[in-house]
Amino acid sequence: MNDQDRQHLTRCAELAGAALRSGNDPFGSLLMSGAGEVLFEDHNRTADGDATQHPEIAIARWAAAHLSPEQRARATVYTSGEHCLMCAAAHGWVGLGRIVYASSSRQLTEWMGEFGAQPGRVNPLPIQDVLREWSVEGLEPALSARLRELHRQNFRRQAES
Ligand SMILES: [Zn+2]
Repeated sequence: MNDQDRQHLTRCAELAGAALRSGNDPFGSLLMSGAGEVLFEDHNRTADGDATQHPEIAIARWAAAHLSPEQRARATVYTSGEHCLMCAAAHGWVGLGRIVYASSSRQLTEWMGEFGAQPGRVNPLPIQDVLREWSVEGLEPALSARLRELHRQNFRRQAES
């Protein structure tokens, strides 16, 4: 992981913060071209009741509509939290390239346990259990405390509602 990777992961953490402020679960992601240009960014949009509105699947769909297979293969997806299995599969189906994440699904599971949350109904599989022989890097410890705090605030808000 290099300085550019860390810079993009920091942007993903900012997007996760924006998600939280708009009532969504705190996850943010962006798509970088093979030339290093940020093409698309988004955050989780599950607040309206559609639990599949994750930014990584939005990226996969955007890439399928706008990029050639070669451009997709050279692109990198940065994300504040490791892809869930739905998004990992979407990433694989459209043939995107490298994945770099800031916090792992295992980490999130540990944090939710510390907050007192019940385990989710979808297994938090690592990306490598969904995608074979993919270039995947993470986690980034420098962002762990910041992301944990976003998830803590989100859990507390949901527990109070
Ligand atoms: Zn997902």
